[in-house]
Amino acid sequence: MCLLEGTRFSQDRLISGAAPVFNYGGMAFSEFQGNGEVVGRLREMLARDRFPHAMILAGPQGAGKYTLALMLARTMNCLGIGGSGEAFKTDGLPDYCGRCENCRRIGQAEDLDARFAEAVEAREGLRETDKKETRILVQTHPDVMVVPPDPPQMMIKVDQVRQVIQTVRYKPQEARRRVFIFTESTFMKEAANALLKVLEEPPDFATIFLLARNPGELLATIRSRCIIQTLSALPTQEIERYLAKGRPEWNERQRQLVARLSGGAVGRARSFDLAAYTSARAHALTILGSALRGSDHSELFKVTETYRAGAEGREKTEKLLRTLYSLLQDLTFLHSGTPELVRNTDIQTDLKKFAESSDFSWIAFASDRLAEVERGMRRNLLRSLSLDAFAAALERG
Ligand SMILES: [Zn+2]
Repeated sequence: MCLLEGTRFSQDRLISGAAPVFNYGGMAFSEFQGNGEVVGRLREMLARDRFPHAMILAGPQGAGKYTLALMLARTMNCLGIGGSGEAFKTDGLPDYCGRCENCRRIGQAEDLDARFAEAVEAREGLRETDKKETRILVQTHPDVMVVPPDPPQMMIKVDQVRQVIQTVRYKPQEARRRVFIFTESTFMKEAANALLKVLEEPPDFATIFLLARNPGELLATIRSRCIIQTLSALPTQEIERYLAKGRPEWNERQRQLVARLSGGAVGRARSFDLAAYTSARAHALTILGSALRGSDHSELFKVTETYRAGAEGREKTEKLLRTLYSLLQDLTFLHSGTPELVRNTDIQTDLKKFAESSDFSWIAFASDRLAEVERGMRRNLLRSLSLDAFAAALERG
């Protein structure tokens, strides 16, 4: 079965290489940002040994669904204080030590992007015939299986669910509970039907987590067999406080900006690429400035020239378009008398100037043209040309 090759390979690399990034030292759940009530409820369920067999963890991207699922998986399987089996608790509720063999190995799946990339890379290295049959799974502990959407379609496929079906019946080898974590709710139809069969009668020792940004995407028959818990976005002040510790290299204004742009998602805030955003925004401001002032085009052409075809250019253009949307939205907030909703708080002066020389109908028009550029990109029109056309179309006569 070549399916697990990639993960075995990644495990070896991890064990020999990377040092643990965090040392929880018994502070595990206290490291989780926000949603204290939900977290408390889930730990109560563990304390009473009433944890459901199937749970949907819903919430926006970056709210911590995956982090929380892995924390729960460790708590279910922690070997206890010094491996003694004596349950590890904090605040009187179940927690995990972060140090025992089970905690350590399950914790290796924490950096999902890295584990996913390793599994994809391992698959790329296989012979063509094997490649087709190999599905991406992340398994750093024999009893905990993480199922991410499978590229290139980035959907959960029936062969992945079959892997779950094949293992779910067997008693865990080294853990108390077998845990399965589906990291997205984008299932291919056949995969969703296969999952439904598992959910109809899951064995006593198994817990299945479905992480969903939008639980409505899941079949109603799947939803009805799961307990749903929802994580909400964090207040921006809370994210700012978190960033003060997590990204000390950012100043207060930068933290404020990132907290607002990440829409309450602590994961997104932590990994936010501020340099890339700032450079895309500088370009977006040039484009808007040129459109609203309509005079000198040399600056504009200097900017649009740097947007080339190819994969790299595509990514750069997508970032630019997203940034343009966020600026247009901020202008809308200024026009509708809700400046407190503006996200690009560090460039208020620029935004106010733009707001003065624009109105609602211009913003609506600009958003439509922007959508046109996006459609053009999908048809692979030359990017710099469509950006020029965009700016030209917006010029106020
Ligand atoms: Zn432990």
